[in-house]
Amino acid sequence: MTDNNAIKTIFANAIDGRIDEIKRISLDILNHPESGYREYRTSRLVADWFRTNGFHVQTDVAKTGVISTLETGRPGPHVVVMGELDALLVPKHLYADRETGAAHACGHHAQIGSMLTVAAGLLNESVNKNLAGKISFMATPAEEYIELEYRQTLVDNGEIEFFGGKQEFIKLGHFNDVDIAMLTHTGSELRGTLGIGGSNNGMVGKTIRYTGRAAHAGGSPHLGINSLNAAHLALAAIHAQRETFRDSDTVRVHPIITKGGSAVNSVPSDVRIETYVRASNVPAILRTSQKVDRAFRSGALATGSSVEIITTPGYLPAKYDSSLTELYSHNAASLIGDDNIIRLNHGTGCTDMGDVSQIVPAIQPSANATTGSGHGTDYRVDNYELAITKAGKAMGMTLIDLLSVDGEKARDIAGSFDAPMTIDDYLHRMRSFRSRDTYEE
Ligand SMILES: [Zn+2]
Ligand SMILES: [Zn+2]
Repeated sequence: MTDNNAIKTIFANAIDGRIDEIKRISLDILNHPESGYREYRTSRLVADWFRTNGFHVQTDVAKTGVISTLETGRPGPHVVVMGELDALLVPKHLYADRETGAAHACGHHAQIGSMLTVAAGLLNESVNKNLAGKISFMATPAEEYIELEYRQTLVDNGEIEFFGGKQEFIKLGHFNDVDIAMLTHTGSELRGTLGIGGSNNGMVGKTIRYTGRAAHAGGSPHLGINSLNAAHLALAAIHAQRETFRDSDTVRVHPIITKGGSAVNSVPSDVRIETYVRASNVPAILRTSQKVDRAFRSGALATGSSVEIITTPGYLPAKYDSSLTELYSHNAASLIGDDNIIRLNHGTGCTDMGDVSQIVPAIQPSANATTGSGHGTDYRVDNYELAITKAGKAMGMTLIDLLSVDGEKARDIAGSFDAPMTIDDYLHRMRSFRSRDTYEE
């Protein structure tokens, strides 16, 4: 048995020899962005790398996901390192796909890099012979909860049940024997730091469709029912309720009109909206969801159009495990210094790591290695040394602490984790968020 510091040094040195190759894959993904449940090329790249390196690889998990496993051959806990495959849609982004508008404006290409970095270091025989249990690398589809209509068609075709990739992984049973999970996201906090802890809002998604009556917009608007006006009233009604949102619930409601009409000289009769209802806790999400539904109905009532409101399970609020955070923090500090470890606050964005954090101890540190604003046209990862190499080393070193000495530490953390819900409870709860109602007011 070698001591952990010696193993970590071997692990870190093993990574240094592979980092150029891993960075090339991240840049390849950056240059070929694909949005959620369409990440075919990205998925192939990741699967090929794992296969070439001798891992057992499962592909087409939840459409485009990849799971690669490394069995140490010794019984012990199961630790998962994750990376997200999908891009956003930000057509004006410098690295946007000209045809689809997909762009890595959330830095997921770098996450894949940090995940591969951990895998590359663990391949070293002197490292993995000191570990027990099993390590899985999960490249998950569709973290960005977008293109709701497209995803609804996948649900209607029975290809998926949930819009988020990790949720599908949970449903498919891939978390049934998982003890601990981690993923590093890029972030825009103080540059050069690694952020730890924090929490995130949860959410539900909504797709709204107003159906009115088409008519000549100039000649006979009195014969039409204007769905765009219905939508306009509904949006105003949502805004009118913002004063009822409590600050402590950190509510966010931000609708977009995805279809505003068909031809300018015809009264709009098919208008569609997508929105989220986000908050820091589930009761606030549900309360706000009702208010938002009332607002959508009000537009239909006023104009005489009908409205279909589809509510889809979103993501649960994220809460990251404190013991795992401390262990990670210690390793991260050994790489970049105590002063460069910062505590994250509550984030009003959402992630399907939130769902994972409700069933197993999980962390999602942030590698503050970017410029510009997240999800914006100017978001760039500009410090790959931090986002890939250091982030990967910090996760890998944590994993060494977890799985050395027969996995004692992982067992401790998993054993003292007070899971908010079992996987069955989770699935039941998520399904309960789903509704589809049509109102003819
Ligand atoms: Zn994002
Ligand atoms: Zn993201």
